[in-house]
Amino acid sequence: MLVRTLPDPVPPARHEIAASYISRLATLHGLDVNGLWTQVTEREKSGGMRRVVVPERLAALTGRSVHALAGALPELRDPQPEWAMFRHQPQTGCHRCDAQHAGGKVTRLLPHHRYVCLRHRTWIGPPDVNQPAADLDEIPAIVHSQRRHLRLLRRHGWAATYDAVLTAFSFCGHIWDTVRPPEDRRHVWHTWDARARVLIPDDETTAFRTYSTSKLFAAVYPEAVGLATLITSPHWRHRAGGTLLDQLRFLDEISRRISYPYTDKPELGDAIAHWATVDSWRPPSSPTNTYSPARAQCLLPPLHGGSLKRHEKSALWFSRNRKAGSALLRHNHIRPVIDRAWAQDYERIEGAIWHSKRTDQQLLDQTARERVEQKAGR
Ligand SMILES: [Zn+2]
Repeated sequence: MLVRTLPDPVPPARHEIAASYISRLATLHGLDVNGLWTQVTEREKSGGMRRVVVPERLAALTGRSVHALAGALPELRDPQPEWAMFRHQPQTGCHRCDAQHAGGKVTRLLPHHRYVCLRHRTWIGPPDVNQPAADLDEIPAIVHSQRRHLRLLRRHGWAATYDAVLTAFSFCGHIWDTVRPPEDRRHVWHTWDARARVLIPDDETTAFRTYSTSKLFAAVYPEAVGLATLITSPHWRHRAGGTLLDQLRFLDEISRRISYPYTDKPELGDAIAHWATVDSWRPPSSPTNTYSPARAQCLLPPLHGGSLKRHEKSALWFSRNRKAGSALLRHNHIRPVIDRAWAQDYERIEGAIWHSKRTDQQLLDQTARERVEQKAGR
C-alpha cells in the first residue's frame, strides 16, 4: 500500500501508544482517524480482527525514520520490549509535557516506576480516571521520592522494585485504613492526611473535580518508597522471614521509618507481620496483566460509565469522611500484591484485603508447611 507523507507530521511523544499518535495526526490534518489507522496497520499474524502498526508505513506517513519513531513509540521497537516491564493500561501523563504536543490527548504506556514528572514536578501516578495531574510544588518530598525510586530500580531491577513499591503501597493503605484518626499527632496517618488536604482540598462541591485515588497514592509515596528500600533489601527480607528475633528486628526497623504497630487492636490484623511471615521468603509478585499492542480500532475507548459512577461515589465519600486507606487497598494498581498467586482465592476484593493482613495460627501453620515443602524442593 502506498502511503503519502502528511504535510505536518508532528513528532510522537515519549512512550506514546501508536493509536494515540495516529489519532493526533488525523485530528491535525482533518482526516478520518479510522481510515488513517487502516492505512498504517495490518491484521495481526495470528488472525483475528485486531491490527498492529506496520512501522515502515508509519515512517512513510510521517517522513520520520522507523528508528526515530521507535525511540518514542514502544510498540514500534524490534524486537518488541518486554511488556511486563510496562503498565498494562495506557494512561494520560504530565499535562505540562502534553501541552507541547498538538492534536489532542496524548496517551502513553509508562513503565511501572514512573509516578512523577521530574521536569515539571507533577504527579502522574498509576492509571486512574483521567483527572488532571497534581502539582507537587508544595510537597517536594514526593518529587524526591521519584529519584529514590529510580535508584532502587537501578540497584534491584524492575521486577523486585515493582513488587516492593506495590507491597509498600499496600502497607500504607492498611495503615491509613483506620476507624478514627490516631491520637498520637506524630503518627504517619497525620502526615498523609495533611498531604491529601493539599492535593484534594476539603470541599464537597469541588470533590468530583479534585478527587482521584491516584492523588492518595501520591500522599503516601514518600513512605512507600522508604519501605520499598527495606522490602528489596536481601538483608531485611531475610530478617523478615527469619527467626522470631530476626523478625522483631525487622519490625523495629519498620517502626523507625513509619508508625508501627499501626493499630493497638491486634485482632484487626497486621499486613506488615503478614507479609514478613507469608510473603517475604517467596519470589516477587509479577503484574497480573500485560499490555498487548494489537487493537481492533484506533479510537481509545471512552471512560466507562461504570468507572465514572464509581469515581463520583468515591469523590463524594472521601469529601465527607476523608477516609483514604480503603480506596488505596481497592485500587486495581496494587491488586497483584493484594491477591498474590499463592494466596487463597476470594470472590470479592474485601476477602483478599482481609486475607492480606491475616496473622492467625491457621495461616501460620499452613505457611510453615509450605516453607518446609519449598525447602524440600517440592
Ligand atoms: Zn512534564
